[in-house]
Parts: sequence; structure tokens; C-alpha cells
Amino acid sequence: MRAEPLLREVFGFDSFRPGQAEIVEAVAQGENTLAIMPTGGGKSLCFQLPALMRDGVTVVISPLIALMRDQVRGLKEAGVEAGALTSGNTEEETAEVWSAIEDGRLRLLYMAPERLASGGAQAMLRRIGVSLIAVDEAHCVSQWGHDFRPDYLRIGELRRDLGVPLAAFTATADAETREEIVAKLFDGERPREFLRGFDRPNIHLAFAVKDQPRRQILAFAEGRRGQSGIVYCGTRAKTETLAQALREQGHSACHYHGGMDPDDRRAVEGRFAREDGLIVVATIAFGMGIDKPDIRWVAHADLPKSIESYYQEIGRAGRDGAAAETLTLFGPDDIRFRRSQIDEGLAPPERKAADHGRLNALLGLAEALECRRKSLLSYFGEEVETCGGCDLCDKPPELFDATTPVRMALSAALRTGESFGAGHLIDIVMGNETEKVRQRGHEQLPTFGVGKDLSKGEWQAVFRQMMGRDLMRPDPERHGALRMTGRARPILKGEESVTLRRDTIRVAKSDRPVVR
Ligand code: ADP
Ligand code: ZN
Repeated sequence: MRAEPLLREVFGFDSFRPGQAEIVEAVAQGENTLAIMPTGGGKSLCFQLPALMRDGVTVVISPLIALMRDQVRGLKEAGVEAGALTSGNTEEETAEVWSAIEDGRLRLLYMAPERLASGGAQAMLRRIGVSLIAVDEAHCVSQWGHDFRPDYLRIGELRRDLGVPLAAFTATADAETREEIVAKLFDGERPREFLRGFDRPNIHLAFAVKDQPRRQILAFAEGRRGQSGIVYCGTRAKTETLAQALREQGHSACHYHGGMDPDDRRAVEGRFAREDGLIVVATIAFGMGIDKPDIRWVAHADLPKSIESYYQEIGRAGRDGAAAETLTLFGPDDIRFRRSQIDEGLAPPERKAADHGRLNALLGLAEALECRRKSLLSYFGEEVETCGGCDLCDKPPELFDATTPVRMALSAALRTGESFGAGHLIDIVMGNETEKVRQRGHEQLPTFGVGKDLSKGEWQAVFRQMMGRDLMRPDPERHGALRMTGRARPILKGEESVTLRRDTIRVAKSDRPVVR
């Protein structure tokens, strides 16, 4: 059957979303495909529809039982024979799936990856006439991602064994994960690749320097009273205190993190799905599988760990296409925290370098000088003409040539053996005779007091923007000490100049919270 009539009659949609038509066609024709589409972009249709265009059974591997059940329910309501074999099944459900298989009625068979571990499952799949394997959340084969599922590594073997085409789907766009998927699922043979629809024009992007984070988040929530939102926090403890603070302001709010009892977590998920205007304050444990279309805002009380995580997390807002807003707070402590998380991790050195790169990409976005949407999408390899809305397009920042203060800062760091943190370096350039300065004789340095023109707040902003541009990095060996990176050298030598944003400097100086 052709795609368009099925799209209308079975799925009830008038037209394809960006990218869907080409992917459906490639998958239906039996090409190996890797489709990278953002969360909410409409990936499931890209294998469900081809499943109906092809003879035989399409096996869908998916990591989340709840998601499988939702899809099976949706398909059945649309009159499509679909079933799931998962550990969550009742006996009747399993018996029903089996009888549909035996009768040759079943079109889509959803399976948890764990099922592939049993030899019986593979033999069964060989017997029932599978014509396509669809892999949802394909980034779960990546050993480095936080969603790694060892059983996903069996999928490549299944594909070889059955000799049928495979269509892999993920929202994770970075090149390394893509390569890992190609290596593990397609044995390194290039599939057709699609990267589409990453722009979410209805989501407004904004960052603010972390100043008084609790007040900033409360003020943001205040302006959106009665709307469903998520606040992401870096720690479990913070989710609890912030949820409490929101409740004290009369919001309906609850916390969510991986340390909670599974029943309590499910209760929060259920409330969030059903209730209007609930705020969930959560760690990243609140994520995959949240399928609420009308989340009106997402705020980050702490900086995410990479540009990919940022994109995934804000992407949960506004799936219904109506306007949604985001606010991401960041500050020097976040940068230090995320850097040390990478440095102290167990990953091999190449991996750590890549992770620093992804963090840099996010910091670049945080400290961007112009349109955030353009910076964000260009990272994913997509170009956009117009901006649906970001804080920098709303109000272009004032820039200034910061070469002189940046050189002062770098020189203060170098002359003190790159052994001190921003606070002490600021005391040196500002000429503050603190006890620490006197003990080390740093008042003798030629850089002592050269930066009196800027206030402490302005200097903090300069240091933060320098860390954001990766001109300086915390030394993993010495707590808090800032070291110069290779990027700083041409500036110090006078070969390059640096432009910084004045607005964040002003903001850091005043003590009012920064809210759009
Ligand atoms: P994801 O890419 O996150 O898996 P889904 O497949 O769940 O996204 O789709 C997200 C939402 O978009 C669903 O509610 C789905 O019904 C809807 N959708 C998908 N394709 C279309 C389309 N062509 N027209 C309208 N709505 C669509
Ligand atoms: Zn913009």
C-alpha cells in the first residue's frame, strides 16, 4: 500500500512532518536506515507506517516497557495488529500475542532488548517471517552514553541472523554516537542517514547567569503560574528543597530523582501526565518516556553536562507545537562541577577530551554573542534562516573588546604558577591586599592592581566568560586552580583579540536576579 492513504486512514494525520516522508520511503523500500530526529519529531510513525507497507512482521526493539505499551495500545486503537513481549505482560497478554503470531495476523511485535538474550527468542523470530527490524532509542548501544543497554549489542547479531533490513532511530545527534550505532548495529556498513527537524521554533531559548538561583527559578515559575513545567537540578537534594520552595510560593510542585522509591516515582509520573500545572523538580532521571505534549516550560537550575543533554531536556517542552519557554542558569561553579565530573570519571582520555568538547559547545551556547538557535542548530549540522525566539534576538547583547582585561587575567594566572582560583586572581588584578596576597608576596607582581577599573562583579563575569570560551580550565589535579588552555596563547601574545558581552557583566554587578 502507498504511504499517504495509510497516513490518513490509519494514523489520522493530514500530512507528514519534516523528514518523515523520506524516511518512511527508505524504510519501506528495505534500505538500512539511521534516522536522527529530535524527541517529539515523530519517529514512531517512520517505522510503524513502513511496517504496514511491507509483508511480514516488523520487530520493534525498544528500551522502555511503558513506551511499548503506549504504542501497542495506540496501534490497536487504530486497528493495527500489534503486540508486545515484555516482562510486564500478564499471561493473557502474552497468550494473545502468541496466537496473533501463529495466525500470521501480527504486523508489529515490540520486544524489550533483554528478550534477545534467550536463544528461544531468536529461533522464534527466525520462524515467524520477520521482514524488518526497527530499533527505537538506538543510542542505547553506545557504551558511553548514560542510557547504555548491554542487550542492545545483540541487535547486530539478530540482523545478521535474520538477514533483514534494519531501521534505527534516535534523537541523539552527535557524530560519535552516530558512528557507534553504525558500527554496532550495521557492522560498520553505511546505512542511509537522515538528520531532520531539529529546529523547534516554538521553544524560546534563554540563558541567565546564576546569581541567586532559587530566586531566579521562583521568579521564572511565577511568570508561568498554572502551567506545567520541569525544573532540572544537578543534585537530588536540590530537587527536594526547590520543590518545597515552589510549594511555599503556592505552586503545585513535587520532586523526582533516581533515589526515590519506584512507586513514588511512578506516582509523580502519573500526576504529571494527568494534572495541569504541576511542576516537577527533577534530576535527569526524569526523562526518557515522558510523553506529555503540553509541558509549557523547562528550566535548568544547574547547567546540563553537554549540549546534547541540554537539547534533549529543553526538547521536552512544547511537543504540542504551542509556544514554550526555557531558562538555563549557569555560573562558574557549574563549569567547575561539570569539568571535574568528566576529569574524575573512568572514561579513557579520548573520551574525556570529547566530553570536554561537548561541554565547551554548551558553554559556547551559554556565552553566545548572537542568536542561540543558530549556534545550537549549527552544532547539530542544521542551518536555520529565522529564529523563532531567543533572548539574544529579543535583545541583542552589547559587546566590548575585552582583550585588555583578559590579558591581565591570563598574566596574573601565569605569574602565579597557574595555581590559584578566580577569587585570588581577581584580588591580584584589583589590587586587594588580602592576607593570602601578602603571605605569597603577590602584591609585588607587576599585574597587581592593574585592573582597578573593573568591579569585582565585572571581573567575575570576565573570568566566567573566559572559562566559557575555554581560555582557562580548572586544573583537575589542584582543586580550584585555573590553568590557561592552548586557546589563550594567541591572546596573551597579542595575536588575537577577545570580544565579551557587556550585559552579563552588568548583570553580575547588580544583585537583582536575572529573569527575562
Ligand atoms: P518521537 O520522535 O519522540 O518518538 P513520536 O513518534 O512519539 O515522537 O511522535 C510525537 C507526536 O507527534 C505524537 O503525538 C504523534 O502522534 C505526533 N505525530 C507524528 N507524526 C505526525 C504527523 N505527520 N502529523 C501530526 N502529528 C504527528
Ligand atoms: Zn535567536
